[in-house]
Amino acid sequence: MLSSDRLRIVLAASEAVPFSKTGGLADVSMALAKSLDTLGHSVTVIVPDYRQLRLSKQEQRPDVADTELRFSLSMNGRYVTGGVNWTMLPDSGVKVLLVSQPDYFDRPQLYMEDGQGYVDNCARFCFFSRAVMEVCQQMVLRPDIIHCNDWQTGLIPALLHSQFAGRPGFENAASVMTLHNMAFQGRFWSPDMPLTDMDGSYFNMHHMESWGDLNLLKTGISFADQITTVSPTYAREVCTAEGGEGLDALLSYRRKDLTGILNGIDTAIWNPESDPFLPASYSVQEINPGKAVCKSALQERMGLPQRDRVPLFGMVSRMSDQKGFDLLAECASRLLFDDIQIAFLGTGDARYEDYLQHLAHEHPSRVAVYIGFDEGLAHQIEAGADGFLMPSRFEPCGLNQMYSLRYGTLPIVRRIGGLADSVVNVDPETLRAGVATGFVFDDYSSTQLAETVERAVELYRQPNVWEQVIKNGMSADWSWQNSARQYVETYRRAIERRHDRAADNRQ
Ligand code: ADP
Repeated sequence: MLSSDRLRIVLAASEAVPFSKTGGLADVSMALAKSLDTLGHSVTVIVPDYRQLRLSKQEQRPDVADTELRFSLSMNGRYVTGGVNWTMLPDSGVKVLLVSQPDYFDRPQLYMEDGQGYVDNCARFCFFSRAVMEVCQQMVLRPDIIHCNDWQTGLIPALLHSQFAGRPGFENAASVMTLHNMAFQGRFWSPDMPLTDMDGSYFNMHHMESWGDLNLLKTGISFADQITTVSPTYAREVCTAEGGEGLDALLSYRRKDLTGILNGIDTAIWNPESDPFLPASYSVQEINPGKAVCKSALQERMGLPQRDRVPLFGMVSRMSDQKGFDLLAECASRLLFDDIQIAFLGTGDARYEDYLQHLAHEHPSRVAVYIGFDEGLAHQIEAGADGFLMPSRFEPCGLNQMYSLRYGTLPIVRRIGGLADSVVNVDPETLRAGVATGFVFDDYSSTQLAETVERAVELYRQPNVWEQVIKNGMSADWSWQNSARQYVETYRRAIERRHDRAADNRQ
């Protein structure tokens, strides 16, 4: 690679494994960083230094050192000091910078406790976004690209466009804003505007304001040079009233700068041939006995009867309205009429947690629930289950269906967002063509979900066909290389657009 082709990329995110994780964003940010590094680019990831880092298990804990950089930001008239710790990601050239500010980030959770967002979330993530700019400047990172992710970093493109526009170190910097989930927008009341350090005149419907509120995701979309979403189908959906969550008009207006890039998965971490969380390994060449051993161990761990010929469905998910738990509740008695087992892992809304625990209590030989966050169990469910449930209301990309495909566990999904882009429905034609990988339904309806699970159960009774579908899914390539290349193309478009903008400003 010529040095001029080598981009200096700063990837700013509110979570990244192995430092912090509440959902897919954490997997995506680090896996993308590693792949960009493999492609030869210089990558620095900047994340908040949460308490989760210090609580992580000793063996996972990377060595972190203090850079001794300190900076102070005026947060609505009050000076708040931050620091920066750093580490290298093992086996890569990716540098990770952790913005420390104990009052903001040393808390039991990342964003909320007991279902309530922290009241100062606007201050916390305006501080983080401003800190990213400060760190870029003071550590002379001279980024070509600042890649921002979700509302927590939505302020960055605006800062780059305004007070940082002409500053040394930012001459070539363009911004890319990735929308991982439009449901979370970082909406705050207007008196929080000074926390952004932006001129008050930007508090208008074309830039930072939405229905009277400060909206940090909208801010990112308005100012970024390029916008991406995490699947091509979701990129179309966010431009519609149904999927745009109130920002569809703005996204339609920016349609030519909007690209959908399907996430990859970390194929080193999610690999049934070498997964340390599993009691046995397996591969597409030799599925059993490894997968059968995983199934039996999962049944044992979850307290379900250890039977090998009963279809076992898994679900690993935040327990929220997005994920289709209301559909499951509506059709649970119909589903459980069949001889099936279901293993749930997740945390979230108390009503869904309570409901599933109640269901498990009523049907102890069919339903098992683990409420909590457990990385190992997530892997064991992906491996040990026969089918995987994702009846989501919306799903920007979704990672679990790709993990399932890789682990030979057939996904049952709704035809939306990234699910539509990654699972091929079983039907006579796709079976004949050898491309069927799972079960897909269209409407957000419990009847369709129940019918689709029944279709899966029926196919499960034809082991040869079932195994062929497993093999189709396991053979697919979900690695990040392809997605990372598409991001690099988007970065180059962002740089071009930034040059055009700079030229316009000079005229
Ligand atoms: P989302 O980002 O909307 O939560 P994704 O499917 O994109 O959904 O990613 C979810 C990620 O979080 C997956 O890696 C999944 O395995 C993991 N996950 C979700 N809930 C849990 C849990 N309770 N325990 C362990 N891992 C979980």
